[in-house]
Amino acid sequence: VVDSLLVVQMNYSRFLTSVSAARETSPIRALTAIMLKSPPSLISLAGGVPNVNTFPFKKASITVNDGSVVEIGEDLMRTALQYSSSQGYPALLSWLTDLQKSCHNPPTLNYSPENGKMDVCVTAGSQEGLSKVFDMLISPGDNILLDEPTYAGTLAALRPLRCNIVKVPADNHGIIPQSLKDILSRWTPGDPKTPKFLYTIPNGGNPTGISLSTERKEAIYKIAREYDFLIIEDDPYYFLQFTKPWAPTFLSMDVDGRVIRTDSMSKILSSGLRIGFVTGPQPLIERIVLHVQTSTLHTSTFTQVMTSQLLHQWGLEGFLQHVDRVVDFYRSQRDVMLSSAEKWLTGLAEWQCPAAGMFLWMKINGISDTEKMIMEKAFKKEVLFAPGNGFLIDKSKPCPYVRASFSSSSPEQIDQLPCELKSAPKLAPKFAPKSAPKEALMPGSET
Ligand code: PLP
Ligand code: PMP
Repeated sequence: VVDSLLVVQMNYSRFLTSVSAARETSPIRALTAIMLKSPPSLISLAGGVPNVNTFPFKKASITVNDGSVVEIGEDLMRTALQYSSSQGYPALLSWLTDLQKSCHNPPTLNYSPENGKMDVCVTAGSQEGLSKVFDMLISPGDNILLDEPTYAGTLAALRPLRCNIVKVPADNHGIIPQSLKDILSRWTPGDPKTPKFLYTIPNGGNPTGISLSTERKEAIYKIAREYDFLIIEDDPYYFLQFTKPWAPTFLSMDVDGRVIRTDSMSKILSSGLRIGFVTGPQPLIERIVLHVQTSTLHTSTFTQVMTSQLLHQWGLEGFLQHVDRVVDFYRSQRDVMLSSAEKWLTGLAEWQCPAAGMFLWMKINGISDTEKMIMEKAFKKEVLFAPGNGFLIDKSKPCPYVRASFSSSSPEQIDQLPCELKSAPKLAPKFAPKSAPKEALMPGSET
């Protein structure tokens, strides 16, 4: 697929910040890893773990909506209440590693660890993973690449790191490879100021709903090889693609070990449980695990045990059946949103059919700054759409776009779409008055 399959020998150390490079294993955490692998007969006076018998919770039985039950008996509960490995609760980690193998079959699977063998780390949501990836790679003044508009949480994590965010032009099909090439021609390959990475949301972009085609991904990967930068593939909507077959991922093309992929269970199992996972070359995943060791220690063991039990009960097949049901739901919500937009907003706004995810990105004709319009409504306690400027590198710029989420409103609420826009002065006369909208389309979602 990629022109030359000759593997490039990656020099990972050149990407790391001095802080990340200085991280070392904590001796206590190393002991925890040994203890987790030891037989129960091991008498250990080494660990500083609390005695689980003092903890008040005994066992749990969690009913699943397919009628099955996740049982956490007394023994498993003891495990679930205790410290665990920073890389992830072993049973969950192995299930997720198998998932990555079967979804992406990464070329790096059988590499040696130093050459970038694929590795996985569980994180408390993909946001934690992203934040740690950025902390690992960005020193002030570094150049990095991304396509705008993009996820506000990413921009919020990046801005304080004082990197120089270089915008890569994109169209209705995502990043334009030739434009990426043109931008990179400012640097010669090997120049230490060459951008360290490209960040992108390859499926159902937040906020645009756009997905990158296979051809474009291949072209972008080729450019990454030429200029030796990493690709951060932030793909929380991978399992929410509306059409099959699902597009091959950057991870699936990664012959060199230059892709860091963040996955999320937030749209599939639960957003509040906080389960995500980072997949990438071992030398980089190791840096992230060391960072986890000094921050959260690990994602909640209870959360991981609960998730792991369900996933092992389901198997890959059961998981994918669940994914299908979720996709069917979001596809029908999207269709309701599209017909409502067509019915009410034709000629007043422009949009594109989202290929994945839960957002419709609309350009409101005749409005230059949707933030002003929306803030006036928010003031009246009718929080509706997310104004587009929040997804721009420079959020102080006016933006004619809004993001409408179709994830959690009823079809009736979605059909109130035009009401929500009625305060827009130019649009107002076109709509018949309706009853005041309830807090509806964009109920203050955090993401
Ligand atoms: N990345 C993107 C593009 C998102 O849209 C979101 C959440 O909306 C996240 C990351 C964070 O997801 P998580 O809940 O897994 O931290
Ligand atoms: N501070 C001190 C002094 C500790 O001993 C520990 C845990 N051993 C922590 C912080 C971390 O605690 P937590 O499990 O709440 O992250």
